[in-house]
Amino acid sequence: MKFNELGLSADLLRAVEEQGYETPTPIQREAIPHILEGHDILAGAQTGTGKTAGFTLPMLQILGDTPSGPRRIRALILTPTRELAAQVNESVHTYGKYRPIRAMEIYGGVSARPQITKIKRGVDVVIATPGRLLDHVRQRNIDLSFVEMFVLDEADRMLDMGFIRDIKQIIKQLPRERQNLLFSATFSKEIRELANNLLDNPAEIQVAARNATVDRVEQLVYPVDKDRKRELLSEMIGRGNWQQVLVFMRTKHGANRLAKQLNQDGITTDAIHGGKGQGARTRALRDFKAGKIRVLVATDIAARGLDIEKLPHVVNFELPHVPEDYVHRIGRTARAGQDGTAISLVCIDEKKLLKDIETLLKRGIPKEFVPGYEVDKRIKAEPVQKGKPRRPSGPRPAGRKKAGNASGSRRPGKNARNNQRKRFSRSARSSVS
Ligand code: AMP
Repeated sequence: MKFNELGLSADLLRAVEEQGYETPTPIQREAIPHILEGHDILAGAQTGTGKTAGFTLPMLQILGDTPSGPRRIRALILTPTRELAAQVNESVHTYGKYRPIRAMEIYGGVSARPQITKIKRGVDVVIATPGRLLDHVRQRNIDLSFVEMFVLDEADRMLDMGFIRDIKQIIKQLPRERQNLLFSATFSKEIRELANNLLDNPAEIQVAARNATVDRVEQLVYPVDKDRKRELLSEMIGRGNWQQVLVFMRTKHGANRLAKQLNQDGITTDAIHGGKGQGARTRALRDFKAGKIRVLVATDIAARGLDIEKLPHVVNFELPHVPEDYVHRIGRTARAGQDGTAISLVCIDEKKLLKDIETLLKRGIPKEFVPGYEVDKRIKAEPVQKGKPRRPSGPRPAGRKKAGNASGSRRPGKNARNNQRKRFSRSARSSVS
């Protein structure tokens, strides 16, 4: 099937062609005709499937090419994170390049003033995170009573982040007559409930079960002691001459610390997490995409939905508490038909987390042992602390005490480590499934 068979207008097709897309992805093939017919949609699709164009293109077509009056928002897209809001806004601008449609993003962490000015000037499409949008609603800066199309993007993530009450509040502001599109990677009972209340006789679309995306990613587990992870990572990046690596941490604090250490190792690194101002987050992402920094250390929330083209390496420096997050993390690599590797550095404390992930994947992840980084069997497992429930601003630091071994140290002496370092090479890896 070609794009021009989907019923999209010439200017949208031109914008798509300029992106170099040749054929629509499965979600686009399925969703676009239904949306153009005015149906509500319940779509099971995660980032990387092309879902953004899947709802943005028909939305632009439906909105037509007449800008609306002041403060008349006609389409509202809710996303869980600021980054995703910015990305979706970028897509609306990319695909709506040949239309006078005005779109803006609204999120917290930045001054509300410029947002208010922009809303007053007139905007057709708002892409927002729930908290700041509600602030604007409460202060009567924005009127949502003209919204014709409402999109909940990454609904599962929004519920995980505790946004359900905000979402319900926002829905109350919308007119009864509207088209609703709900996108979610997973379908829990809560999502089904939300969908039942929100959607009217929706077309249900499920593209490529989540493992299909994941199957293109070469996944490996490197068992290693916790205190030696940083050293191993630096070495892998250096030896493999990796130029673009996305590294995941569980906490903001951990992300900052690792970024600092990698910079000390001479590897240009920045961190991206909910504790950073929007300016710093945008800058870090831009520098990473442009190749100005080699490593971006991220927490799950900040990285959610990040679209970085052809990302070759994803490293789980720490495994996530929620197994689904593993799937989201490794979905950052091997995008749009590219191959990629996802490496998890797993210490003894994380055995249970690994097991949960393997259960979700319904298969084991091959283990590779790096000579010189053999695990010290004397180290006992400690529970991985979960910290407080996740808030939109990101997970809390999970500070915990280090375990000592008989010699008071968790790692071999410096000389031994240097010898081990010399011995490390990718070809020397032994693979055990
Ligand atoms: P998404 O799932 O919306 O985050 O999109 C993932 C990536 O796929 C983005 O980089 C898009 O630019 C890209 N993409 C979207 N549609 C297509 C297509 N039909 N062909 C190739 N790439 C696409």
